[in-house]
Amino acid sequence: MLFAHDTECGLIATAALVNTDGPDGEGLPDVAALDGFFVTHGWTGRHEHTEAELRSVRELRPRLRRIWDADADGIVAIVNELLRESHALPQLIRHDGEPYHLHAVPRDAPLATRMAVEAAMALADLVRLGELGRLRICAHQDCDNVLVDLSKNRSRRFCEAGCGNRAAVNAYRARKAATRS
Ligand SMILES: [Zn+2]
Ligand SMILES: [Zn+2]
Repeated sequence: MLFAHDTECGLIATAALVNTDGPDGEGLPDVAALDGFFVTHGWTGRHEHTEAELRSVRELRPRLRRIWDADADGIVAIVNELLRESHALPQLIRHDGEPYHLHAVPRDAPLATRMAVEAAMALADLVRLGELGRLRICAHQDCDNVLVDLSKNRSRRFCEAGCGNRAAVNAYRARKAATRS
């Protein structure tokens, strides 16, 4: 593990949330899709299953996306803004069998608020460790997804949507075409 467990989970969940707002369509089309996202990413605490909750989670995404397009000072500004407006107050807590980890807003705060603060806390860790280079945009030419490279050798270039396989297939076809001609 490179970073604290909650930092890694926060970064992965944040990238996944940003990528639900893709050019290929809405990844969170309805309340059921948000339920699925909630479960997949191990979220606990308040979850309303309402259109209003869905809307506020969707509205958070472009703000989080800006993190991947910003430089270090820009990222710091976004992180500080998210922490400030959520009245973040870091507290170590233990729940659901997990070891002590940081929460900076209560578990009954709205889901979008907790998502924003979890993202900000995880990013604060990356800033302090000088590891912002871990935030990348997918290297596949047709893909604009974000990713967090948590590999030891900083080798990850493609997002989770299968772009690594797609790139390998394209390279293979290109090689074959080159041999034929
Ligand atoms: Zn927790
Ligand atoms: Zn991709």
